[in-house]
Order: sequence, then structure tokens, then C-alpha cells
Amino acid sequence: MANLKIYSTQNKDIQKTMEKEFNKKMYLLKSKNDENATSQAAMVVIDNKTGYVVGCVGGLGEKETSRGFNRATQAKRQTGSAIKPLAILAPGIDKKIFTASTTFVDEETDFNDGSDEPYHPTNYDGYLGEITVRRAVESSQNIPFVKMMEEITPKTSIKYLKKMGISTLTDKDENLALALGGLDIGMSPLETAAAYATIANDGKYIEPTFFTKIETSEGKTVLKSKQKKKNVFSKETAYIIKELLTEPVNGTYGTATYCKMKNMDVAAKTGTTNENYDRWLCGFTPYYSAATWFGFDINETINFNKRNPAGLIWSSIMDDIHEKLEGKRFEKPNKVISCTICKKSGKKATKYCIDTYEEYYLKGTEPTECTYHSSKNKGKKNEINKSVNKNTVDESKNTENVKKETDDSVEKEVIEEAPKVEASDEIIEDPSENTENDTSSDNNIQNNVTEDSKEDIIEETESSEDSTDKPLQDASNEKIENVA
Ligand SMILES: [Zn+2]
Repeated sequence: MANLKIYSTQNKDIQKTMEKEFNKKMYLLKSKNDENATSQAAMVVIDNKTGYVVGCVGGLGEKETSRGFNRATQAKRQTGSAIKPLAILAPGIDKKIFTASTTFVDEETDFNDGSDEPYHPTNYDGYLGEITVRRAVESSQNIPFVKMMEEITPKTSIKYLKKMGISTLTDKDENLALALGGLDIGMSPLETAAAYATIANDGKYIEPTFFTKIETSEGKTVLKSKQKKKNVFSKETAYIIKELLTEPVNGTYGTATYCKMKNMDVAAKTGTTNENYDRWLCGFTPYYSAATWFGFDINETINFNKRNPAGLIWSSIMDDIHEKLEGKRFEKPNKVISCTICKKSGKKATKYCIDTYEEYYLKGTEPTECTYHSSKNKGKKNEINKSVNKNTVDESKNTENVKKETDDSVEKEVIEEAPKVEASDEIIEDPSENTENDTSSDNNIQNNVTEDSKEDIIEETESSEDSTDKPLQDASNEKIENVA
């Protein structure tokens, strides 16, 4: 393989920005078990439209010369809630099992999944009662997501995850714990970033690549990168998921509010695993998708001043690489329907609804009118408030707003929201132990292409068999132009 020229997809400025952040001493936590070990991290940044890996870092601290273990491509870690958009929102919205405003009751629940013991996941931060999918995304409430998974079924969820390029799922992952990212083996930052890029790229998965072509010293091309492609869901579904994922960034109770950018839409989701072993931040802008993992190679609790170090790395780097880019918003496809919705019921707002917002729907999935709020229906409304409050952990911290209604009566409206806890969102219930044990590191983007890569370059386009919408217009088997 001597004298071969590899055309890398790496963007030198982005790579430099990433390495600078990863070299910051503040991220190096000392291990309590091994005096030579420190915390580690990895991050992959992918161009949404091409699947090109424009930046990749596989470890914290100064670069080591060895090309050993690269966490960005090789580490398989528990994802916690970072899996929710991929495993739940994508199949659920695409198959019209629920909409962004469908409500689920967030309360302590025993799930019977066929095993001897019922599955009893918990929320990290209390229970909110009946809430919409959007509200569940905002602060990553676990129970509604497990209920969504029950309706989707883990089998269907896995089908979607595989279409988005996740290659490390096993038969043991086919259970409800999949909803909260309790995985048998785990997922790599590279595959996670590429799966998020599927949403960012309007439902079309593109296999990520580190190079475009390889030439001999005489300029003869010996290998061209061909990336597998798949239409996983429609651009309408993708838009609704994008919109939902702005909630952790923009919402009052969002878990990733520090990822906000000026004049730029940002979608982001955090992930935290049991015992605080893994922290994730995954998300995208209209330009780039990125996944950041933070943790110890051998599981150890992360104590980072109650903040999410993966989130801090992600936002610092993404801020930097978007600084000179033109501000952009996620573009709403024409076929996406927008409706004014009652925040409490998740139904179409009437003149009696007090707290309303704009929500987005696939055609035909718009909700019916809100019946909770009407001049005739106050008894029912009070009943609902009561049942919701029963499930709220700390009622004393709820805010009471008194608002005047249009039908000349004054009513008390209790806003049911949990108190905010900074940067910590969710703990998965029962992840299997991760025993990654390789401590060598490789902070470099992988430019060395081995013989193996030749076997991986199958190009494939598959129409979304599950989507009930029309096939995507750009479903052609397009090839990526080679660039130097
Ligand atoms: Zn209403």
C-alpha cells in the first residue's frame, strides 16, 4: 500500500477545532480505580448531505502516535436516552403510531414484557402526569418513552435502527429497555452520528466515509468510496423529528439548552446511563450532525459538577465550526401540516384553550378538537388537573397562574411542570456492564484505509417500505462525486 494517496473527507479547520477542545485539561478526570487512567471522550462530525466524516477525535488529551483503539469508531457504549429519537421518534412518527402531541401518562409504571419480573424503569426527576410527546422529549421523561416503545414494539424499532446503520444490535436488545438505551453491546459514536444524520438529511441514511478515493503515485484511482444509502423515512417525518429535537435546546425545561446557537436551528438530545457511566450529546444543525460520548474506558461514575461534559464539548465545537456559516433553519416541507394545539390536551385548540402552541403533523394525523377546555366541561377539566397533580413529585414547586378565561369566569390553571435540575436528565434502568478495556488511544481521523474497506463499499438504495407517504422524490441511486 506504499505511495498511495488518500483523499480524505476531513475538514482541516473542523478537525483542528475538535483537537483543541479535546486537549483541554478540564475534561480529564482522574480515575478512582486506576492511577494511570483518566476520563475519555470521542466525537464524530458528519456533513449531513454527503455523509463525509469532516472531523473525528477518538480520545482526550495529547495525541498519541500509535494508531490503536479509536473510541469514535470502535468503542461500543450504552447510549441512554440518546437513542430515543432513533429508536422511538423515527418509527413512531413514521408509522403514524403517535404524533408530536399525542399524550402519555408519565407515572410510575410496571411494564410486563413477558419476563418473570415486571420492568420498572424510573424517571430521574419526578413524574409529570399526562404529557405530550413534545413535553416528554423536552426533559427526556422515561416512562412515556417506554410506553411509546410498547406501541411501536422493540422489533420494529430495531428494524429502523438497522436501516440507520446501527450494526451492533443483538437479539438481547429486543425488549423494552431498548427505549432507554439499555443495550447488550452498545453503539459507537460514528454509527450514532450517522444515524442522527439520517434525520438531518431528511430521512435518507448515508453510510459515513473517511475518504473519497485512493490514487497511486501515478494518479491512477485504485479505489473510490461508495457509500451505502437508504431512504428510511420521509422528509416530512424527518422534519417533525427535527422540530421535536429543538425542544431540549429551546424548551424551558430542556436538557440541552446550552447548545443554542444564534440564527441557527439546533436539534440535540442528551444521554446518561446508569451510575452516570456514560454521558452523550447527539444532534445536528442544518449543516452538520455530531455525536459526542464521554466516560471511562472501564465504567466509572462521572462527576463533572453535575454538568454533562459531552454536551459541553459538543456545544463548544459546534459553536465554533458554525461561527462563519450563514444562519439556517430546518425547512418545513409543504406537505407537513401545522396546527394550533392546546398544550394540556395535545388536541386542536379551541377558543377555550388557554395555553397553545404550533405543532406539526403528517397529513391525516392531525388531532381532533380539545374537549378538556370548554364552557360546558369544567368538571372534566378539574378532574384532569387533579389526576395530573397526583403524579407530580413536588407540587409545592409548581407555579400557579391565574388567567382570565373568555367565558367570563376566572379559573385557576395549574401548570404541571417538574422543577428543573440542571444538565442531568435521565438514568437508564438496567444497562449491562460495559467492559471496554482498551486504553490505547488514537486521536486522529482514520486516514489509513485497510483492505477491509473494499468489502464495505456496497451501494444500496431501498425505498421506505413502512412509510405510507409517497416515495421520496430523490430516491434515485445517486453517486457521490469525488472531491479532493
Ligand atoms: Zn384545551
